[in-house]
Amino acid sequence: MPANKYITRNGTISIVGITDAGASWNYPPDMPSDPRWQKWPTQVTVPASFRGSGRPVNVVTCFEEALAKVYRAIEDPRTRTQCDAYFLELGKARSERMRRSLTDLLGYKLIFFRNGSANPADDFRATSGQAAVVMGEVLSSNNVAGNAIITISAYAARSPASLAATIIHELAHVAGAPGRPADGDWTRMNQEARAPYFGAENALKKCGFTQQHDPAIYGEVLDRFQRRMKISGLA
Ligand SMILES: [Zn+2]
Repeated sequence: MPANKYITRNGTISIVGITDAGASWNYPPDMPSDPRWQKWPTQVTVPASFRGSGRPVNVVTCFEEALAKVYRAIEDPRTRTQCDAYFLELGKARSERMRRSLTDLLGYKLIFFRNGSANPADDFRATSGQAAVVMGEVLSSNNVAGNAIITISAYAARSPASLAATIIHELAHVAGAPGRPADGDWTRMNQEARAPYFGAENALKKCGFTQQHDPAIYGEVLDRFQRRMKISGLA
């Protein structure tokens, strides 16, 4: 696999199964059958019924183009200022030296597993008019060592813009945006208490991805229960 400037820029990026940052960085799955720890094939095909092109997408190219979009957010001085400030704000509960801007996080070692079925095509076998497609999840991160392991669905890789938005959303969790509260807790929360759970998705607005921002998406609650594809619905 030839080195690519986007894959290797600043930090080190490993697309598990395709372009590995180094064998020791490919965290061995505890459970190979766990959907969160799947390898990436060289290409994925997201059908038109799932808002894909229906044609094979080259995964490396899609990551390259997605990361180019993510880098653009910190190359434009205006976007960079508000985007980095927002990411640091997400870490406000941490000690100052543990807060991370998007620029900081792009210097991390990022390891991308695929979330889904062993055969990605199985992700798109809809039943009863809908299919559950989780966009992504942070599996672990270490802000001292500077690394994060993230799983992303083939569905999110249907286009560079979709993949870029998913990467920013997941990096916002690494920066400190809260994940999923218990269902019962969510039900009891008022609007103010719920606000922080929109933090990861709101990063899209701050970093130049307004078009990809979905105001309905809140933290892992929606990642798990609603940020799922309905055949006629939203991504
Ligand atoms: Zn989330």
